[in-house]
Amino acid sequence: MRRHRIEHRGNPEYYTPIYEMALSQFEAAADKLSLDPNLRKRFTNPKRAIMVNIPIRMDDQSVEVFHGYRVHHDTTLGPSKGGIRFHPDVSLGEVSALAMWMTWKCALMGLPFGGAKGGVRCDPLALSRNELQRLTRRYTAEMIQFIGPDIDVPAPDIGTNEQIMAWMMDTYSQFKGYSIPEIVTGKPISIGGSLGRVEATGRGVVYCILEAMSHLNMKPDGKTVVIQGFGNVGSHTAQILSEKGCKIIAVSDVHCGLYQPNGLDITALRAHVSRHQYLKGYTEASEISNPELLELPCDVLVPAALSEQITNDNADRISCKILAEAANGPTTPTADQILKDRGIFIIPDILANAGGVTVSYFEWVQGLQHFFWKEMEINERLREIVSMTFNNVLKTAISEKVDMRLAAMMLAIRKITESNLARGLFP
Ligand code: NAD
Repeated sequence: MRRHRIEHRGNPEYYTPIYEMALSQFEAAADKLSLDPNLRKRFTNPKRAIMVNIPIRMDDQSVEVFHGYRVHHDTTLGPSKGGIRFHPDVSLGEVSALAMWMTWKCALMGLPFGGAKGGVRCDPLALSRNELQRLTRRYTAEMIQFIGPDIDVPAPDIGTNEQIMAWMMDTYSQFKGYSIPEIVTGKPISIGGSLGRVEATGRGVVYCILEAMSHLNMKPDGKTVVIQGFGNVGSHTAQILSEKGCKIIAVSDVHCGLYQPNGLDITALRAHVSRHQYLKGYTEASEISNPELLELPCDVLVPAALSEQITNDNADRISCKILAEAANGPTTPTADQILKDRGIFIIPDILANAGGVTVSYFEWVQGLQHFFWKEMEINERLREIVSMTFNNVLKTAISEKVDMRLAAMMLAIRKITESNLARGLFP
């Protein structure tokens, strides 16, 4: 039999530093599991990556072209699932890394989804509402063959929200000729959104922090918390943690950080942001920079903004007991090692922020069945899944003598491997 030797010349376009970071986390778990080399090759690359150029008529009648992406990393367990990011730094590499993390996150939480992510390279805050709507609708139209309730189900991420999801749902439904709310999750309640979805990611972060505190024999009352990012995830995490008795001593957004050693009034801060869009101008705290905020001594540090915030440069000055990764990929692999050596308990992103996709799954199920659940039921089911998964990861970490990230990755990869081997390789 003649054997072909396949020669690859250079890496594919998505091999960027952030993709390599996702890959190195995967490889550490694959090594530990002695993963079948054929499967390793398949998981190393996304199933498909779509890039589109989106022409938009701006309010001044000129035409701008924006770059849009959607990446499906793996669909072994079901339709792919993942957010849409509107941000100036969106790139094929970033979206591909985020799609890979979604694969592991869905598998870890036991959800019947594969992993995907999408985004448009733009600054949503510099666009008018009409421009944003045209951009969202044209992006959806360009992706129409690659999304669908049984194909790939988008959700909000940085720079997108319920309104963007409503425009996506409407555009998709206009193309098909009837209403299809299940095409997206994180949409408004009035068109089939789920109760509890807006707060779900923050709620999941809080459930993980409470589990970690119980493991470390800490009580939430009076514990100091620092949160980077005060958008959907950061603000809800702050609100719910303060209701549990924690003292939120610092928060930040893209423009500034606020520090109040006696604890910030989160309700007042959220009211300030809903009036002024940013934290700047709030007078009951002193201003600090984002780098300073990350290094404040505290019990719990929650990065809830962008990736690669805790790096080789600042890891030895991070001064918390628990690091809860609400953002995706906030810690680089070298920083991860430094924090581990310093005994910081890390709740990895694929576990810490998985509350969002878990309630997205509830929203998708409710939409498919046209049968809606009570908020209490949703929060209780979320708590049950997050707490059970946290404790499974902790048990694996202890029995395998590995850290929480490696344990979470091992559980996720084991789950997909089993399904992948059962399905086999087509043709
Ligand atoms: P968002 O757009 O609602 O909020 C982002 C926040 O980060 C804003 O306050 C923004 O000002 C701030 N920010 C942006 N750049 C910053 C910088 N350089 N330094 C400090 N702050 C900065 O986004 P979100 O939905 O809250 O997402 C936050 C993180 O959580 C992202 O990493 C996202 O991938 C992750 N996440 C979100 C969800 C979800 O359901 N929304 C689910 C899982 C994970």
